[in-house]
Amino acid sequence: MENQKLTEIKKSLLNEKERVEKELSEVAEKKGEKFVPIYPEYGDGDEENASEAEEYEVHLALDKNLEKILTDVIKALAKIEAGTYGKCDSCGQEIPAERLEAFPSALLCVPCQSKKENPFNKFFRKLNPHKNVKQPKK
Ligand SMILES: [Zn+2]
Repeated sequence: MENQKLTEIKKSLLNEKERVEKELSEVAEKKGEKFVPIYPEYGDGDEENASEAEEYEVHLALDKNLEKILTDVIKALAKIEAGTYGKCDSCGQEIPAERLEAFPSALLCVPCQSKKENPFNKFFRKLNPHKNVKQPKK
């Protein structure tokens, strides 16, 4: 990948990192290396406790999501530093430039990503079917 493009991608990754960290700081507290979702304190009433629990659920979900994005962004930045940016983490093939421009924190090529995200694979892994059961084609 050309240096100029790489510089642009690095810039957008750093922006993304800053944005995600800011959002994360609103729903979670950083404790050492870990993020802990914030448990809101409104008061001791039943209704207040219910809203606290509800908001905590939202924090929990957002935290999980944002942490995942942040991890990918940090990994992508590390790959730039290591000179391996643009290569799929799974198969080592070059990830098409259009994909990287649209989605700079992509760590996998499209086939590997869809393999990873295919709900069937997840489902069958979980199910751990008997060997004789016909499995979906990979
Ligand atoms: Zn791949």
